[in-house]
Amino acid sequence: MFKRNKFRNNLFIYYSLIFVVFTLLILSYLFKREKEFRISALNDELENTTQIVNNYIKTNSIIAKGNYFLIDSLVKLLPQDSLRVTVINPNGVVIFDSFVSDWGKMGNHKNRPEIEGSLYSDYGTSVRKSATTGKEYYYFSKYFGNYFVRAAVVYNIKVVNFLKAKMYFLVIIIGSFFLIWLIMLLVTNKFSESIIKLKDFALKIGNNEPLDLNQKFPKNELGTISKELVEIYSNLLKTKNDLVNEREKLFSHLNALNEGIAFFSKDKIKILSNNNFIHYMNMISGELSVSGADFFKIEDFKNVNEFIDRQLNNEINSTHLPKFEYQLGKNGKFYKVQCVIFHDKNFEVILSDITEMEQNRLIKQQMTSNIAHELKTPVSSVKGYLETLINDPSMPADKQIYFIEKALAQSERLTNLINDISIINRIEEAGSSFTTEKVAIGEIIDEVTNNFKSAIAGREMKVETEKIDNAVVTGNRSLILSIFQNLLENAVNYAGDKTIIRIVLYNEDESFCHFLFSDNGIGIAEEHLPRVFERFYRIDSGRSRKSGGTGLGLAIVKNAILVHKGEISVRNRIGGGTEFLFSLPK
Ligand code: ADP
Repeated sequence: MFKRNKFRNNLFIYYSLIFVVFTLLILSYLFKREKEFRISALNDELENTTQIVNNYIKTNSIIAKGNYFLIDSLVKLLPQDSLRVTVINPNGVVIFDSFVSDWGKMGNHKNRPEIEGSLYSDYGTSVRKSATTGKEYYYFSKYFGNYFVRAAVVYNIKVVNFLKAKMYFLVIIIGSFFLIWLIMLLVTNKFSESIIKLKDFALKIGNNEPLDLNQKFPKNELGTISKELVEIYSNLLKTKNDLVNEREKLFSHLNALNEGIAFFSKDKIKILSNNNFIHYMNMISGELSVSGADFFKIEDFKNVNEFIDRQLNNEINSTHLPKFEYQLGKNGKFYKVQCVIFHDKNFEVILSDITEMEQNRLIKQQMTSNIAHELKTPVSSVKGYLETLINDPSMPADKQIYFIEKALAQSERLTNLINDISIINRIEEAGSSFTTEKVAIGEIIDEVTNNFKSAIAGREMKVETEKIDNAVVTGNRSLILSIFQNLLENAVNYAGDKTIIRIVLYNEDESFCHFLFSDNGIGIAEEHLPRVFERFYRIDSGRSRKSGGTGLGLAIVKNAILVHKGEISVRNRIGGGTEFLFSLPK
C-alpha cells in the first residue's frame, strides 16, 4: 500500500524535512539564547572574582611587597573549579599566574584579545585553548589602572551538553512529530483512497482494460472531482461508441448507394469512399486502380480536378458551397461527375451511372417526336376530308357518306394510337405497382379470339391451343389481355390467309409459365427481327397502317411482359411463320 501511495509518501517526506528544519532552527535559537545567558552569568561571576582579587591585592599591598603567593592562597579559597588567575602589568608582562610557577618566563600578554579588549572598555573576554593546560578556557580580563586582573575558567558551553540538558525538549519534539504524523495519516487516508482509485482508473484506461463506471468515491473534494472525471470519461466513451456506430451506419449506407461517393481532405487525401466509387472510377478510366488517390491522375476527371484546385485557392462562402457537375460518356455508358467543396475545404466527389436515365431520356425524346409524326397523318386526313365536304356543298350524298366514313376510319386510327400510347405510358409510370390477380390464360385466349372472330373467319384462319386449359399466371389482367390481343391481332393482320395460329404452354418451372405463340404465315425477315419490339417500328408501314396498326403493338407486349418480370424473344419458325416465346409468373 505504501509503495502504491506515492502521493502520501511524498507528503510525508516533505513534512519530515520541514519538521526537521523547523526543529533545528528552534534548537539553534535556544542554544544561542542559552549561550548568551551562560556567558553573561560567567562574565558576572568572573568580574566578581577579578574584583575580589583586586581588593585583595590592594588591601595586602601585594604589588608593593611583591608577595604574590598570597594571591595563590586566595585563588584556592574561591569556589570555581580550576580557576586560573593572572595579573599582568600595563606593559603586558605577567606578574602573577596561579597555574604557572615561573611566570617570569611567560610571553608578553599585551596582545591577548581579552587584555586588549579590557583596556578600552569595562572588560575583555576571549575563548581559546590554553597553551599551558591544553584545555579550552574562557578568559575574562579587567583593567584596574596599575594592572590587569585576568580570571579564566574551563569553557564548557557545548552543544552536546546543551542537548543533554534539553533532553525533555527533544522527547516532546519527537513525540509531537509522531503525533502530527498520525493525524496526517488519518486525514490523508480519505484523500489517498480517491487518488488511488483515480490512479487505477487512469491506468485501466491507458491499458484498455474493462472499467467499472459505477464505482463509489469518498465524499470529499477529491472524491467529487474523481466522480466528475469518471462521468466525463463515461460520456466520452458513450459518444465515441455512438460515433463508431454512426460511422458503421454511414459506411453501410454509403455502400448501399447506387452512386459512387468519396470524401477527400483538402490535401487530396481520401478520407472515405464506397465500393461503387472505385468501381465507377475503374469503369471510366479503363484501368484497375484500387486507391481513391488515383482519381486525380485520371484524364476523364481533369475538369473536376482543375475545379478543385481553383476552389482550394479561394475563400469558401459557407452559404453557397462551390459545386461542379458534368456528364461524360464512356464505352456506351453515361456518367455524372459531381463535386462539392465544403467550407473546411474538404470535398466530396460523386460518380453516378446515368446510362439508364440517359437512354430513357433519348427514348422519351424519340417517342415524343414519333407520336407527333404518327398523329400528323390521321389528323391531316380527317381535316382534308372535312374541308372537302365543306368546300363542296353540292356533293352527291353517297360521296359525302364516303368521305365521312373515311374521316371516321382515321379518327378510329387516332383512337387506337392514343389508346396504345396511354397503355405504354401507364406501364412505364406504374412500373411494377399494377394490381395483380390469378389469371386463367384459357379465358383470356377465348376473349381475344372472340374479339377477332369475324376477321379470323374471314381469312379462313384457325387458332389452336395446347395445354392452355390449366395455365394460370399471376399478373395484371388487362395487361395480360393486351399481350395476347396484340399478338393475335398481328397474326391476323400479317400472317396471311388460311394460316394457323398456335398457342402452347410449352414449359412450366417453379416460378414461371413459358408460352409459345406462333403462326405459319409470312414471317419476319431476319434483319428486322432484332427491332420489332421497338416503339413505332414497322416492317411495311403502308400495310401496317392499312390494317390499323400503330407500330406500338409489340412494344406494349414486351413492356407488359417485362413489368411481370418475364422475358420475350422472337424467331422465325422452321417451316415458315413467326414464333414468339415468352414467360409470365405463376
Ligand atoms: P403494328 O402496329 O404495325 O402491328 P407491331 O409492333 O405490333 O406494330 O409490329 C411491328 C411489325 O412487325 C409489324 O408492322 C409487322 O410488319 C411485323 N409483324 C408483327 N407480327 C407479325 C407476324 N405475326 N407476322 C409477320 N409480321 C409481323
